[in-house]
Amino acid sequence: MTQFLDRIAEEKPFFLDGGMGSLLAAYGGSMKSGENNLHHPDVVLAAHRDYLAAGSDALTTNTFALNGIYAQQQGMTAAAAEEALRRGCQLAAEAAAGAGRRIYLLGDLGPSGQMLAPYGEGDADAMFAACLRQCSIMAAYPLDAFLIETVFDLREAELMLRAAKQAAPALPVLLSLTFASVKRGGATIMGDRAAKAAASAAEWGAAAVGGNCGDLSPAEYAVVMTSMREACRLPLLVQPNAGKPRLEGDQVYYDLSPQDFAIQMQDCRAAGASLLGGCCGTTPAHIQALRERIA
Ligand SMILES: [Zn+2]
Repeated sequence: MTQFLDRIAEEKPFFLDGGMGSLLAAYGGSMKSGENNLHHPDVVLAAHRDYLAAGSDALTTNTFALNGIYAQQQGMTAAAAEEALRRGCQLAAEAAAGAGRRIYLLGDLGPSGQMLAPYGEGDADAMFAACLRQCSIMAAYPLDAFLIETVFDLREAELMLRAAKQAAPALPVLLSLTFASVKRGGATIMGDRAAKAAASAAEWGAAAVGGNCGDLSPAEYAVVMTSMREACRLPLLVQPNAGKPRLEGDQVYYDLSPQDFAIQMQDCRAAGASLLGGCCGTTPAHIQALRERIA
């Protein structure tokens, strides 16, 4: 067992970090989150350090948008995306090294942005190859685990998990799906249910399973956690947005204050979640409030 696996097996609260994309933009970086690693490394470092000051036990590399297929859809060349991946891993490691306490490093893996057949034109072999390439590059850095997140198709989650295991067999993999509904114990927009996702993650050798982002409030994510806890014994992870997304014009807003976010997250903790953080709209203040209320 690695030190990280021992730590999460305790199922004591383990504090992750919160949203990055909007935070980087607010700190003066680019709206294209991955490009900040190349063009605004100071902004990425500042975000990591603010999460550490808020009490995060782990840093997530700023590599969510750097899946090769996704990055090229966003207009990045393959070479730029790979350099941004390397820089993203370095920046998180640099921030962690300066913390003065043990900080775990999670290598963030986001989806391809494509949909698999029959819903879209995504090719499973190409997705596997892109994820394998990304993981092989990231595995050269001192990661404690990979974090597969914001995936709503269990089939893509499985191929990403297999790619991560092939690239770095010794690295634990955390699997987090994005939920759209609390119906039938929680389901993604593809209709993949929380219980099925949790049982599958255990079968595939994930080190933890959970949910992040999407349409559910933190209190609603407690329903997903309950389903997952009934379906597997893995440590459970949850990183909700700062409330349900609210659309105004073409802008999305997340309204939960740090205090209200932390209050709702208590339901997730009571349902069995131990790896606790945030996604869109959450900030270092949300993580600090969470830590104060739950620790
Ligand atoms: Zn999100």
